[in-house]
Amino acid sequence: MPIIVQKYGGTSVGSTDRLRHVADRVVQAKEAGYDVVVVVSAMGETTDDLLAMANQITPTPEPRELDMLLTAGERIAMSLLAIAINARGCKAASYTGSQAGIITDTQHGKAKIVEIRPKRVLESIQAGNVVIVAGFQGLSSSYEITTLGRGGSDTTAVAMAAALGADACEICTDVDGVYTADPRVEPRARKLPVVSYDEMMELAAAGAKVLQSRSVEYARRHGVRIHVRSSFEDVPGTWVQEVDEEQMEGVMISGVALDVEEAKVTLDRVPDRPGVAATVFRAIASEAINIDMIVQNVSHDGRTDLSFTAPIAERAHLEAVLDRIVKEIGAERFTLDDGVAKISLVGAGMKSHPGVAADMFDALAAEGVNIEMISTSPIRISCVVRKQDGERALRAVHARFGLEDGGSGER
Ligand code: ASP
Ligand code: MG
Repeated sequence: MPIIVQKYGGTSVGSTDRLRHVADRVVQAKEAGYDVVVVVSAMGETTDDLLAMANQITPTPEPRELDMLLTAGERIAMSLLAIAINARGCKAASYTGSQAGIITDTQHGKAKIVEIRPKRVLESIQAGNVVIVAGFQGLSSSYEITTLGRGGSDTTAVAMAAALGADACEICTDVDGVYTADPRVEPRARKLPVVSYDEMMELAAAGAKVLQSRSVEYARRHGVRIHVRSSFEDVPGTWVQEVDEEQMEGVMISGVALDVEEAKVTLDRVPDRPGVAATVFRAIASEAINIDMIVQNVSHDGRTDLSFTAPIAERAHLEAVLDRIVKEIGAERFTLDDGVAKISLVGAGMKSHPGVAADMFDALAAEGVNIEMISTSPIRISCVVRKQDGERALRAVHARFGLEDGGSGER
């Protein structure tokens, strides 16, 4: 029988009622003739609650123990779902990431999957079970429990789909697809029927919450087609897949994303000599902090300012590194500004259409929104603006490119 992998997010399994609803859907897929593997997130806000408890005790919990704690969330969801499916008279069994053969590297908190050994999952499928796998977790090469970073259940699901040669990976969530903008901020946003891996990766990295960017990277590498769809309604969602250039002809922009979870960090009066940037960013990288949008100014009197953006969640970590680095390289000081938002415009057609950046800056100017930093990739333009301007900026850019239903930018 063909295998289908379905992943259910935190909201979709947020209560026992919702778990029963998910059980119904899973049983339906089974009855439709699929072998079903389900990947679950922790119920509702469980992960945040567990994290908050650890932080009430100390701002710097041991990464190993934090992973032990956080993986408990998915264990609750997976076993309750198995109980719900069993109660429907359908066989089901749940497995932790470690039991499911998800082997990761040793980086606690953001481990990468290095291998999947699906033997046990396959045996369970053959025994007639719906297999439920805890998302977001694995076993490291040194036999420790690890987590895959926030939102990591998406990556678990894609990786299981790749390892099992599944027909598709369904990401079932509280939105019914990928939109041209977050519909909670821009109600006129339009659902995209298809989006390419490259565009989805840029959108996810730019703050679109619907998929963890690493899951898209993994899907592209292994050729897994992802269907992002509603857990509640049976309507077609968005396919994330390879899209050939011809299909993209005439399509310019796929969406706008807003990220309010990054801070702008500036190092003032950094000595302008070879090796300084390498020292700064090596130190940050060795703490596994992902940064973005690096901007270095023209130097005056042998010194320059260096800015970049980094996740606010890494603040404590980052400040400790920068305290040390500022002294080491002889910079004047560093500041961390968490009052910013990053707005990004993404579209594969940008490459061949000049003037996209100018149009975006124009739209921001017309709203009186000041741009503090700019960065680009071949298919993305990002601007840092004040946080209070973020949502207004997003709506202005969305309108400027005609992305609303029936707008001029429709695919
Ligand atoms: N429960 C984890 C989180 O909230 C993983 C996930 O939801 O995918 O980040
Ligand atoms: Mg979650």
